[in-house]
Amino acid sequence: MPQPTAKIPTLGAIDCDVHVSVPSVGALMPYLDDYWADQFRMRGIDRLDFSLTAYPPNAPLSGRPDWRPKQGAPGTDREMLSQHLDRFGLRAAIAQCLHGSMALHTEDMAAAFCRAINDWMRAEWLDKEPRLFGAITVPMQSPELAAEEIERCAADKRFVQVLLPATTDMPLGRRWYWPIYKAAERHGLPIGIHAGGLFRHAPTATGWPSFIIEDYAAQSQLFDSQLLSLITEGVFTKFPDLKVVLLESGITWLPPFMWRTNKIWRGLRPDVPWVTQAPPDIVRDRVRLTLQPFDAPEDLVKVRATLDHIGGDGMLLFSTDFPHWHFDGDDALPFGLPPEILPGLLSGNALATYPRLAAALQETVA
Ligand code: ZN
Repeated sequence: MPQPTAKIPTLGAIDCDVHVSVPSVGALMPYLDDYWADQFRMRGIDRLDFSLTAYPPNAPLSGRPDWRPKQGAPGTDREMLSQHLDRFGLRAAIAQCLHGSMALHTEDMAAAFCRAINDWMRAEWLDKEPRLFGAITVPMQSPELAAEEIERCAADKRFVQVLLPATTDMPLGRRWYWPIYKAAERHGLPIGIHAGGLFRHAPTATGWPSFIIEDYAAQSQLFDSQLLSLITEGVFTKFPDLKVVLLESGITWLPPFMWRTNKIWRGLRPDVPWVTQAPPDIVRDRVRLTLQPFDAPEDLVKVRATLDHIGGDGMLLFSTDFPHWHFDGDDALPFGLPPEILPGLLSGNALATYPRLAAALQETVA
């Protein structure tokens, strides 16, 4: 495997968060069965956009200027993504597809969309760019159908993660969602929880905000709530091999979360006797976070202290969040990262987190 060099610091890295976007519902039509293709045409859905409104295509965060294709929304140009992999010397990348169908209220149509999106990703991206791996898009509206979709896609080893949004109908630890975790654990698929969501609830605890900046800044509250729910409801106890990756969550909210949750857990352990491990230990063992957007100060001492608080060198997974705009030029590695964490950050931690990805890359080497 190529080692990072001064010339390309990220050479050989695994990018755990890149985005591909469905250009229009029309692009999914070949991947729908006859019933749903008829329904989409009859209802005019085939002419709709269905992009997720948390990422309005023209907002600055949604696309770095040099990562915007001449035509179409950010994330729709495969050649541009391949150039991105070349430029950063990336060995592999995991693609997430955030799509408006996540927010539908009909579970059957959502499931039809997800099947089409996963097959579209396989045919239009994974078959054409061998460095690319995929996250399985699932209909959160029905965990039973979501588990079926995981089972269907798991046969393709290029799917290495299950993608869930940070806002859902109810807290992610609830038993309602456990069929998803059971299927994911069975196939060695981490659960990737990405910023954004279903819009069933406001992203702030006090109601709906007015501006994108509020929605974006409030996402860390959502990750805080979802992680607390997963811990206290016993998901990590029930599914001992399940891993969770927080995608685009930032990291600086985590030290106070871990300290506070641990303190309260020690006082209220009889409330949740199934939580047999201290919450910070659960986080360190089972939870990982992607790098971008990096929200720590550009200060080596402070970054090192933050990493020490959350669990050290193994917690972070390299990501660029292509095509979203969090840094300029080639500065994918924020200033202030301790140099000793780079080997794990760039690839070792991802290989340990994603067993299917590690096996696939091993096969390509053999
Ligand atoms: Zn992302």
